[in-house]
This record gives sequence, C-alpha cells and structure tokens, in this order.
Amino acid sequence: MKRKIPVGILGATGMVGQNYLILLRDHPLFEVAYLAASERSAGRSYAEAVEGRWRMGEPVPEGAAGLPVYPVGEIEGALKSCRLLFSAFSTGKEETRLIERTYAAAGLPVVSNNSAHRLTDNVPILMPEVNPDHLDIIPEQRKREGWSRGCLVTKPNCGVQSYVLPLHALRAAGFVVKEVITTNLQALSGAGYPGQSALDVIDNIVPLPSEEEKAFCEPQKIFGALTGDRIEPEDSLRISSSCLRVPVVHGHTSCVWFAVEGRQPSLEELETALSRFRGVPQELRLPSAPDPVIRFTREDLRPQPRLDRDGGRGMAVSLGRLQRSPVLGYRFTALSHNTVRGAAGGAILTAELLEAKGYL
Ligand code: NAP
Repeated sequence: MKRKIPVGILGATGMVGQNYLILLRDHPLFEVAYLAASERSAGRSYAEAVEGRWRMGEPVPEGAAGLPVYPVGEIEGALKSCRLLFSAFSTGKEETRLIERTYAAAGLPVVSNNSAHRLTDNVPILMPEVNPDHLDIIPEQRKREGWSRGCLVTKPNCGVQSYVLPLHALRAAGFVVKEVITTNLQALSGAGYPGQSALDVIDNIVPLPSEEEKAFCEPQKIFGALTGDRIEPEDSLRISSSCLRVPVVHGHTSCVWFAVEGRQPSLEELETALSRFRGVPQELRLPSAPDPVIRFTREDLRPQPRLDRDGGRGMAVSLGRLQRSPVLGYRFTALSHNTVRGAAGGAILTAELLEAKGYL
C-alpha cells in the first residue's frame, strides 16, 4: 500500500480546522501529522487546546488528540513533519500573506481557506470541478517566486460555492451566462467559533457588506483565463450579490437569477445540464469528489439547509426551484455546506487534485 502523505493544519483549533480533523480521519491519501494555532493554544496537546470548544458531533480523532500544537509561523517542525499544509488561521491579511508565503518559500505546498491571497494574480482560486486547469499555473508561480517544491493555492469564499458550480455546469453545456443576480443567505458557522453574539443573530438577519465584493470578484477570477504566469479575470461576467447572515447553523443558500444570451433554452435542457454535470474530480474518482456533484430536485420545498447540507457528505450542491423568471429569464435556489464544501472539504478535494496532477 502507498504511504500516506503527512499533512499539517494551520488554525487547527478553529471551526474550519476542526472540520479538517474529522474529514481527514480515515483519508486514503493524507494523514494529519502537524497542527498549529495561535500563541493561545501553542505548547498544549490538541485535546487540551480544544477543551470546551470542540464543536464537532464526534470526539477528537485519537491520532490528533495527543499531537502538540505549534504556533502558526513556526517553520522547522512543519518542514520536518509534513509535505502539505492546509491553512485556516484567522489574523490580519498582511500577516496572513507573509506567513503563507514563508511556508511556500520553505518548500511546502499551501492550500488556503484565507482570503489574503485570493486576488494575487499568480495564485489560483480553485474549485476543482470548475477550473482545475488553473493549477497549471504552479510551475510559473514557482519560477516567478523562486520556490522549489512550495506553492500557494486558495479556495474561494464559502458564499460563492453554491452558485459558481451550477453556473459553470450551464456554461460547460454551452449556455452563455454573463449576467447574474444573487441573494446569499449565509450561515452562522461561516463566521467561525464563537462567531457573532446570539443577541445579534437570533430573530434577525444581518447584512454582510464585506462579502459582497468577494461575491463577484472571485467568480470573475475562477472563470478567468490562464495566460502565462497570471490568471486574467473574466471581466465581462457581471454578478450583483446581496449577502446576509441568517440564523442557520451550517449551509449557505443562494437565490440566483440569470440571463442566457441568444436562444432561450427550455427548463428541461437546463435541468439536464445541471444534473448530468461531472467535472475532473468525478472523472478521476478523487476520494472526496461527490457524484453527482449537483443534486437536482424538483421538490417545491427544497433545498433546505437542515435537510440538504450534508448531501454528498457535505460536498454536493443541492439545487432546486429552477424556473423561468420575468427578470433576467431564469432562476434557481442552491445550497452548499459552508464548512465542508465551502472550507475544509473543498480544500481537501483541491489537495487530492494537486496530488493527481503531480504537484505535491
Ligand atoms: P475560527 O473558528 O475563528 O478559528 C480561527 C483559527 O485561527 C483558530 O485556530 C485560532 O487559534 C487561529 N488564530 C486566531 N488568531 C490567530 C493569530 N493571530 N495567529 C495565528 N492563528 C490565529 O475561524 P474559522 O471559521 O475556522 O476560519 C478560519 C479561516 O477560514 C478564516 O480566514 C475564514 O475566513 C476562512 N473560512 C471560513 C469558513 C467558514 O465557513 N467558517 C469558510 C471559508 C473560509 P486559537 O484557537 O489558538 O485562537
């Protein structure tokens, strides 16, 4: 049997970090060998560091409980212990950029959940089913930065997963979609733990202005073209989004209106494109790839976060309410799990693709 690749998690004690530990527990390719968090947790065992704030439905995995927690930014132990880093720590953008670059320069591939590098022109924002080819910027990235084994790849904001994947499925089937309006209803766990105060969110909906720019800039880059050593965003794609924090624990829902240029397809044609879509991860049968990746439903009252967020082990997008619309022409509602597909699970799938393409 092939030896598993030892991996590390930066921000291992947080909401996303805890999800990594659960998802990597019996992973066929990766095993957790290194954990890091803030100075508050450093120096303790992982079990001690998360005592009283472990938020998963099952106990801390045995193999991780006794591992020491290092401070984020520590390089030597990481280099000795692992060959890949998942990054999910929270601090200022400048500091995050510097820390992630330092690990990459030291020789470690970094797959990041942080937003700090998403708009860096030679760093991909990867959705494995949508733009797997953007990983092919890695040789150019290594050349420009002078890195040998290290590299930087980011995951998109958790709010964009629910609609970018279906829009890609439609575009891949030949429908030209350039104008989109979305209302993104984002769950509480998207803000980490403990997140917003209960007094702010119970019986309430809170605008998220800081997410609204990400809601169009990131898809423009994800759909962009790889040209030499940079990714050119698709500026002609116009997306306008309202983002709101809603009192749901996990699962981001997007209500989406979109226009199709030229001939107006039937709803059946759109349904076929969405429900039959398969991407490179499905073709390669990567361990975390859900199949189907878009779970299409005609049920009027779905998708719903509580019923649908765990579809495909939290990795699928559940999509329903596909209808014609007097505004823009068509609409649907889609839902994905923000801490799984939108964070740890999506990053693990990205790492599986990195391995399959020989970049680890
Ligand atoms: P979180 O629950 O608040 O966890 C934050 C983690 O960062 C903890 O491990 C914490 O360590 C560590 N940390 C805090 N301050 C630090 C510092 N100054 N230096 C180094 N490490 C520090 O947040 P989260 O929800 O897991 O999010 C982590 C990252 O993923 C964020 O960048 C977030 O935007 C992104 N993200 C989150 C989601 C989601 O759905 N939650 C989705 C996509 C992306 P201690 O425990 O020691 O304090």
